[in-house]
Formats: sequence, C-alpha cells, structure tokens
Amino acid sequence: MPARTAGRGATVWLTGLPGSGKSTIARAIAALVAQDVDVEILDGDELRATLSSDLGFSAADRDTHVRRVGFVAELLARHGTLVLVPVIAPYEGARQQVRRHHDDHGSTYVQVHVSTPLSECVRRDPKGLYDKALHGQLPGLTGVDDRYDEPPDPDIRVDTTDIDVETAAGQVCQVLADLELLQPVAVRPRQ
Ligand code: ADP
Repeated sequence: MPARTAGRGATVWLTGLPGSGKSTIARAIAALVAQDVDVEILDGDELRATLSSDLGFSAADRDTHVRRVGFVAELLARHGTLVLVPVIAPYEGARQQVRRHHDDHGSTYVQVHVSTPLSECVRRDPKGLYDKALHGQLPGLTGVDDRYDEPPDPDIRVDTTDIDVETAAGQVCQVLADLELLQPVAVRPRQ
C-alpha cells in the first residue's frame, strides 16, 4: 500500500464494538499516510480520561461524550486535519448529531464501521473488558449488556476477523482516496 498525501481535512470516525480493531486501524492509517498529511488521532480512552473525565457510562453520558468528541473533531477537520476517531459511539442518534454538526459547518464526515463480530471481539479481548463483563465485574459494557446500534449506512464496513491490520487500514485509505481526502502516491514499478 503506497503512502497517501494530503487532501482536504475530514473526520474519519471508526465506530464498532470494544476490541473490534478501531484504535489499531487508526494507528495503522496514521502510519501509512505521507508526512505532508496533518493527521490526528482522537483516542477514546485518552478523551474519557481528560475531556470527558466528568462523565460516566449512562446513555446520556455516552451521548454527551460522543457529541464532545464530534465537536473537537469538526474543529480540527475544518482546519485541514485528517482526524481519526476510534471511539465506540454506540448509539445511532448521537452519531447522526455528529454527522449533522459536520454538515452544518461544511466539514467532511466519513464513517467507518469496524464490524468485527462480537464473538471475535470476545475471543481477542485485548483489554480484558469482556472477561470482566462476563464475570459480572464490569456492568454496562457495550456488546454485553449495553446496546450497540449497527450503523445503517457507513462509508465502509471493515470486518477484521480474517484480514491483517495493514489490509484493513488499506481498505479505509482506498475509500479516503476515492473521496479525494488523500491522494495515492504513484509507485514506480521496479526496473
Ligand atoms: P478497539 O479500539 O476497537 O477497542 P483495539 O484496536 O484496541 O480495539 O484492539 C483490537 C485487537 O485486535 C488488537 O489486539 C489487534 O492486534 C487485533 N487485530 C487482529 N487483526 C486485526 C485487524 N485486521 N485490524 C485491527 N485489529 C486487529
């Protein structure tokens, strides 16, 4: 996969279950794009500990968190940054509000559904969250005892069950190139 060079700013929101691969794919995209791309990752855990440290995991707080992150992402996107947002964003209503906020400001919003099924996320369990939730030690985990609304019309769905990280990131970069948010770098064939 050739590196990609700068286009317009945009928010690229990676929504999906815990452990589906959102953060891993975001980091891989950031590593793939060329140095002239102003890229930023708004990491869900980091923002939970800072911007939203006052919030819990009630439905209202989850929506507030998503709207806050969407607000920050839109500001950055409007100023030319490629903003990668690996944040669960479980409810369709708040996701639509974020999309509308971008539309209202003329900013581009791309939705990536990292659609790795629950069974595979539980098998991987990179942070041990499912183990805790299934043993009753973590109430309200998305996918176990809190709902995840499948996005009805994402720009791309990426199920990472049978593909490696580079392939998954490449699929997203291809969509960004198709939307002229990144430009493919011409690779000269080897002599
Ligand atoms: P999330 O951010 O969605 O909670 P993470 O990115 O933290 O998920 O964890 C995903 C886990 O799945 C990591 O341990 C990662 O190495 C693994 N994984 C295996 N294949 C892939 C893939 N193709 N894309 C992304 N992650 C993958």
